[in-house]
Amino acid sequence: MSAMSAEDAAASNSEANGPYYSLRVAEVIDETADARSIVLEIPAELTERFAYESGQFLSFRVEVAGHRLVRCYSLASAPGIDSAHKVTIKRVVDGRASNWMNDVVSVGDSLEVMPPSGVFILHKRDTPLMLLSGGSGITPCISILKTALETTSRPIKLLYANRDDRSIIFKDELNKMLSAHSDRLEIVHRLDDVHGFCNAALIVQEIGPRRDADFYICGPGPFMDVVEAGLEGLGISADQIHIERFESPDTPSATGSAPIDEKDGQTITISLDGTETEVVAAEGETILAAARRAGLEPPFACEEAYCGCCMAKVVEGEVEMQMNDGGIDQRQIDHGWILTCQGIAKGKVRIEYPD
Ligand SMILES: Cc1cc2nc3c(=O)[nH]c(=O)nc-3n(C[C@H](O)[C@H](O)[C@H](O)COP(=O)(O)OP(=O)(O)OC[C@H]3O[C@@H](n4cnc5c(N)ncnc54)[C@H](O)[C@@H]3O)c2cc1C
Repeated sequence: MSAMSAEDAAASNSEANGPYYSLRVAEVIDETADARSIVLEIPAELTERFAYESGQFLSFRVEVAGHRLVRCYSLASAPGIDSAHKVTIKRVVDGRASNWMNDVVSVGDSLEVMPPSGVFILHKRDTPLMLLSGGSGITPCISILKTALETTSRPIKLLYANRDDRSIIFKDELNKMLSAHSDRLEIVHRLDDVHGFCNAALIVQEIGPRRDADFYICGPGPFMDVVEAGLEGLGISADQIHIERFESPDTPSATGSAPIDEKDGQTITISLDGTETEVVAAEGETILAAARRAGLEPPFACEEAYCGCCMAKVVEGEVEMQMNDGGIDQRQIDHGWILTCQGIAKGKVRIEYPD
């Protein structure tokens, strides 16, 4: 990571310099043997830009072993309740950014961070709330939990699955919440080494009579599959189900997918990490897909227009975005930024990823 002076950081914190802002690490908290929280300092002039809702996430751009990576981390803090923005990162086996965040980042460092985004947020209802988390999936759920306890009188149940007792992140904080709100908060810990893996029948059992609840689900892929199967079996309506996926979906756009007919395609000049490359996007193919198919490694995460990780600037030509689910705001669009996962070139274009 390049260390930045306070002046350089301030100079780089302007809209024209792209979607990333330099934020100082105020505190590092070891939560468990393989997860740590990073507390960020938000300068006064960025308070509004970094305002967030419980359940949203930040995107970080980091450089690990010569590779520039963009990764999303949900805010485990809650606005108006916690004084600072806090993310919690769990190590992934052989994962580049997660281990770097756990091993290398220390107090006083500057990190490049995009303002909060995401649609996994608390909706105004007065039905019960059921949070289903596995492992690091607790981060957006604890944020939602804090806000729901503070601002609503909804009955809440948290089902939290972990490998073992030592892997439970925020154990003390959860216990305190339980003591303070035992009248309407229930927490069930499921530990793989004691209870075995969760299955759909267990999910149905834990939901019990709360079929009118709002369900918030976040955890490892297999955990989410089991929860979704349980909810499906109960016929829970889609508008009651809120899901945050920590993994990018496998898409046909990934490098190595079947060849595509470029005959009627558009030429895109892409500037990425100081190198310019010309790629051809087939008809209807997004810029991100075309770049990856050409072997480039541009940043991306959700591919569904809500995370903002894949943002780039159009410096020449016209690009049409298929949709925007909150990944980019109007100010950024006015400055020429687009989500490459949604951008279709209308003729010849030139795109620059942020430096
Ligand atoms: C909206 C959102 C919110 C998130 N919030 C959180 C959060 O709060 N906390 C949290 O801990 N995580 C969160 N994540 C997940 C996080 O963004 C990262 O995906 C995670 O930390 C892994 O990144 P990494 O760089 O460490 O792993 P990567 O380096 O991307 O590796 C991921 C996996 O792929 C394998 N792999 C890596 N390179 C290769 C290769 N070349 N070939 C084959 N396999 C390979 C690795 O072995 C590893 O198992 C969130 C994700 C999203 C989309």
